[in-house]
Amino acid sequence: MSTKSGPVVVLSGGVGGAKLALGLYRILPEQSLSVVVNTGDDFNHYGLRICPDLDTALYTLADLSDKEQGWGRANESWQCLQTLAELGGDNWFRLGDRDLALHLLRTQHLSEGATLTQCIHRLAANMGIGAQILPMSDQVVATELATDQGRLPFQEYFVRRQCQPVVESMHYTGAEVAQPSDEVLSALAQPDLRAIVIAPSNPYLSVAPILSIVGMKAALQRASAPVIAVSPVIGGAAVKGPTAKIMQELNLQPSALTVANFYKDLIDGFVLDTTDESLLSQLPVAGLSTNTLMTSLPDRERLAEEVLGFADQLR
Ligand code: GDP
Repeated sequence: MSTKSGPVVVLSGGVGGAKLALGLYRILPEQSLSVVVNTGDDFNHYGLRICPDLDTALYTLADLSDKEQGWGRANESWQCLQTLAELGGDNWFRLGDRDLALHLLRTQHLSEGATLTQCIHRLAANMGIGAQILPMSDQVVATELATDQGRLPFQEYFVRRQCQPVVESMHYTGAEVAQPSDEVLSALAQPDLRAIVIAPSNPYLSVAPILSIVGMKAALQRASAPVIAVSPVIGGAAVKGPTAKIMQELNLQPSALTVANFYKDLIDGFVLDTTDESLLSQLPVAGLSTNTLMTSLPDRERLAEEVLGFADQLR
């Protein structure tokens, strides 16, 4: 457990972000971590409200996740999906039998008038999670991509077309009116806040939607704690997913430096991998190089410790 104290906020997408969120969760005292999660990937499918990044955060922190995939539940079965396909339904979005329970419950809570924040709070409590998992906003924001195959809703691009279309630009529809929830604003305004960590999530598809909602950047700038981002790009490549591919398509150099420059107006420090140590001198902010590949649970905890130690130095 870390020796310094004070709550921590982490901004996270799905799989990459949840890895570091878990490391932070495990080294911090109970109820000291708030995970502010992207909801730009959320969509409706079979009449259900599905929130992939929030669910990854829930399953990961509750230790229920499928450790191989990083998303979905462990010990999952797929009878419903198989039956849907037999009946002529779509099966491109993988919905496990156990996972369905969460979507059913959330859809019911929302239809009864609960906010998404209230819904997730209830689910997290019932899953025994001792951290706040906070949707970035209770208003709907939908990430869409302009591509060589037309404008696509996020899941159509990411899951159905497996990130194959060439991306021309990203749009966060609804972000121009959506606001951070009161819970997110309170988490960021804590006077004893130790650090705000931008997890190694996809900057364009996971973190940018969070940053794009009205008042989020200002709330980050007002916060008393240093803001540290961790690079999702190692040696010019993404560990997983389309981050580097999108950078190329946007005519950006796929490198940790591009990520640092993307965040430069918001961050006080940037963590990159030892592979990219030579970029340290070119960073626009203070830098730390360390092993950022999180394969094991101890990797997640060690990186979390180092990120917080770096934040403490920058105070
Ligand atoms: P998604 O919403 O499920 O795609 O997940 P995120 O946006 O949270 O994370 C995707 C990013 O996580 C990709 O750019 C990966 O390169 C990055 N990532 C995944 N695992 C690791 C890791 O162990 N270390 C680092 N530094 N980045 C990682």
